[in-house]
Amino acid sequence: ATDFGIEKALKELGVKDINEGTSTGSKNFSNGEVIESYSPVDGKLIGKVKTTTKEDYDKVLDAATSAFQTWRTMPAPQRGEIVRQFGDKLREKKEALGKLVSYEMGKSYQEGLGEVQEMIDICDFAVGLSRQLHGLTMHSERPGHRMYEQYHPLGVVGIISAFNFPVAVWAWNTALAWVCGDVCIWKPSEKTPMCGIACQNIAAEVFKANDLPEGISNLIIGDHRVGEMMTKDTRIPLISATGSTRMGKIVAQEVAGRLGKSLLELGGNNAIIVTPDADIKMTVIGAVFGAVGTAGQRCTSTRRLIIHESMYDKVKDAVVAAYNQLKIGNPLDENNHVGPVIDKDAVKMYQDALERVVDEGGKVIVGGEVLSGEGFESGCYVRPAIAEAQPDYKIVQHETFAPVLYLLKYSGDVHNALEIQNGVKQGLSSAIMTNNLREAEAFLSVQGSDCGIANVNIGTSGAEIGGAFGGEKETGGGRESGSDAWKVYMRRQTNTINYTADLPLAQGIKFDL
Ligand code: NAD
Repeated sequence: ATDFGIEKALKELGVKDINEGTSTGSKNFSNGEVIESYSPVDGKLIGKVKTTTKEDYDKVLDAATSAFQTWRTMPAPQRGEIVRQFGDKLREKKEALGKLVSYEMGKSYQEGLGEVQEMIDICDFAVGLSRQLHGLTMHSERPGHRMYEQYHPLGVVGIISAFNFPVAVWAWNTALAWVCGDVCIWKPSEKTPMCGIACQNIAAEVFKANDLPEGISNLIIGDHRVGEMMTKDTRIPLISATGSTRMGKIVAQEVAGRLGKSLLELGGNNAIIVTPDADIKMTVIGAVFGAVGTAGQRCTSTRRLIIHESMYDKVKDAVVAAYNQLKIGNPLDENNHVGPVIDKDAVKMYQDALERVVDEGGKVIVGGEVLSGEGFESGCYVRPAIAEAQPDYKIVQHETFAPVLYLLKYSGDVHNALEIQNGVKQGLSSAIMTNNLREAEAFLSVQGSDCGIANVNIGTSGAEIGGAFGGEKETGGGRESGSDAWKVYMRRQTNTINYTADLPLAQGIKFDL
């Protein structure tokens, strides 16, 4: 049996037979307990890594704080040059890293490559940005005065990421933070530590080749206990955390308690509205890729299809027919559409959700099985499911991080569909399928979708890096990646300069001595 080039990729990325974890630049050290990373693809042990102890963490923090002193004084376009080199290194390692992502996380090799491509894209974006960290100039109300604003680096940025985008989320944050003059400490998910080490190795090589201080890029390893070292640490002005709403609520309170800043990218419960004017073919492609891509474990995965009653049977039949074509199996084999979910806990979540939807009165019309036998030894492969449900079922209101798609029916006009769509606590991604201009504009209007992302004639998943990414309500309100998301990684300062020999006061106040 082929290993699809995994051994070779592990070697190329420097993660074969290691027992490391915490690192500051290229220096590895860690003294904590061991985490074993098993692949959901074949159930085999990929490698062992050591977690970060409090002493290790303090060393990392010292290295980061000291590196910041140097890094912040380097002109931003020169920092951009370093990020350009980092993007080039990622181009060299794209296949290997894409494979590791697929093998450790379980998404398809194509999606693994896509994730690395996102890293490359954000590097390119950040390079251009390094010459565009603009503030505004304003006209002062006082004669002989000039007023403007500028953006300075913040300091140490803490990045906490989820298992499902084990490399891209780090890059979205770190590429921007670096050109902004910050240094980063990253705690990847404890479910995908090898991806973290591989990325850190790539970054460390670039910093070393440029003779820059260790400590601009840092990695810490472990679960929430290691994450908490950062959220409680007043030396870290910004925590960017991606993961579940449950985690986000804890992190938000912890960071707010010390008046730090947090950037939160949390769970979604994304819907596609299918109106009587929808193109069925486009709807099916958008919905099926959205629901089963990454085995339903994207924050932007399509979880709900809100279909007009006049189209319901037609759309249902077309989506069911598409699900029947899906090939489930090793995600490194490009003939397969759907790989495993991350672990057996995720399988249990999938099963529980389907049980609950039936308990609440719904009907599972496709899927529900956990696959066994040859090729499925890891026990993490499930058949993507479709269930008919009602919008107010508790389980439909909840984000089930697995390939379960709920079909919901609406009647009347698009506002009724919007009420269902917006009637959940999450607010990440949303979409409408329609060729009707009035419906499309209503969906995008002030009375329309309440999500951070609202798409017309595109599914809910697969955002581009050029736009600001994030969502409202329990999704946490953070924005990262494109547009002006960089501003959160900097501190804004307003400067007023008096170039006269008088000292007029603002608001015309007289104060004579
Ligand atoms: P999770 O919340 O279990 O873990 C995410 C990260 O937070 C991990 O690194 C974990 O160790 C850390 N963590 C957990 N509790 C913590 C605490 N108290 N303090 C500090 N750190 C803590 O999430 P997961 O299962 O890895 O990922 C799935 C979730 O992530 C889904 O809800 C998904 O929607 C969400 N997600 C959101 C986005 C987005 O951009 N909005 C992107 C990817 C994933």
